Amino acid sequence: MKTAYDYIHENYKRICAEIEEAKIRYRSPGDEVALMAVTKTVAPEAVNHAISCGIRLLGENRVQEYESKKALYDPSASVHFIGHLQTNKVKYIIEDMDLIQSVDSVRLAMEINKQAQRVGKIQNVLAEVNIGGEESKSGVHPDALTELLCEMAEMPNIRVKGLMTIPPPGDNEKFLCEMQQLYLDISCKNMDNIDMGVLSMGMSSDYAKAIQYGSTLVRIGTGLFGARIYK
Ligand SMILES: *Cc1c(COP(=O)(O)O)cnc(C)c1O
Repeated sequence: MKTAYDYIHENYKRICAEIEEAKIRYRSPGDEVALMAVTKTVAPEAVNHAISCGIRLLGENRVQEYESKKALYDPSASVHFIGHLQTNKVKYIIEDMDLIQSVDSVRLAMEINKQAQRVGKIQNVLAEVNIGGEESKSGVHPDALTELLCEMAEMPNIRVKGLMTIPPPGDNEKFLCEMQQLYLDISCKNMDNIDMGVLSMGMSSDYAKAIQYGSTLVRIGTGLFGARIYK
């Protein structure tokens, strides 16, 4: 039977095939690359359709939007926070997020640690790196990354799982490559209490390239759900 959301299934199959192809070309057998559906502006029904197609991972950008949609989501998918997070909003999402990918300051990390303590969980996080050094973007500057990781390693209710980045738009191969290098450098340091299993990198326009440069998790919005009405 045809439904209004068949295009999501087509997109899902195409993206899975492209991920497979990039893995075969560039990666070792057995390497896992997770596919996240980025849900900003997308109706919960469409998100649930993506879950029925096989999506197991949702990415949320906005606290308020998530709050308004979460009761309608199929609960079988795991949810990550990937947007800019204000410290005063941490308390609203702390219980629901399997991973907070967008930690870019000690101040934010401290609040996450405090709220995680309050609800009795260990919160998995990624450090978000501003690999292009863009003024307008969130993310910690690469030069300040080690210090942020050292601080987070001391926080009992935070567990660092890796790095996330949103490289500058356009021809960004140089930045994908720099990000991979940074990720490998940090991994080699074997810092206490810091796991480096996740490199969250790659969106609709560059996910195959990101896989070439070591991504373990790609975050896809428009490629799966179509163009957004607003950003
Ligand atoms: C919107 C967004 C994405 C997905 O972008 P698309 O180009 O629509 O695939 C990925 N990551 C973050 C952090 C985003 O905000």
